Amino acid sequence: MFRQILSCAIDDNEKFLLFIKIIQMLIQNMTVITKNIQIKSKSENDIIDITHQVSKIVKESKIENGAVIVFVVGSTAAITTIEYEPGLQNDFPDMLSRLVPKDIEYAHDNTWHDGNGHSHVRASLIGPSLAIPFIEGHLTLGTWQQIVLVEMDTRPRERKIILQVIGE
Ligand code: ZN
Repeated sequence: MFRQILSCAIDDNEKFLLFIKIIQMLIQNMTVITKNIQIKSKSENDIIDITHQVSKIVKESKIENGAVIVFVVGSTAAITTIEYEPGLQNDFPDMLSRLVPKDIEYAHDNTWHDGNGHSHVRASLIGPSLAIPFIEGHLTLGTWQQIVLVEMDTRPRERKIILQVIGE
């Protein structure tokens, strides 16, 4: 295979650079696999458990040790971990409304009139991504710790979550 790759080089200089690249790949033996998950949220404060999907993608990657980055595209949703039980599914949004109330003035709303200034601020506060280490194909989450998408926009949204599995 390497001979085939090297035969693509147009000159000795390019051949040398390709050779170095192959050596680096062999030494590092690191792989990156990118996948995505599509999720439909129902409403504001919808908290969706995505642990199963993330863990499945890590297993299917065949990478044994490393970390998976979970990143939601968009500025009105967040990714975090929580114990996924009904009490906290109320407590978490309650905390958000205490910290970032809906009924105050937002410059964002005055400019864009989309009524979701609080959604953007909440999303930035919690953050769009997480990196979760995994060992021998298993996520190092606690038993009562699930990975969740938190919808913060004021309407149902179709969410794209990018996963990058990095390791060896
Ligand atoms: Zn907005």
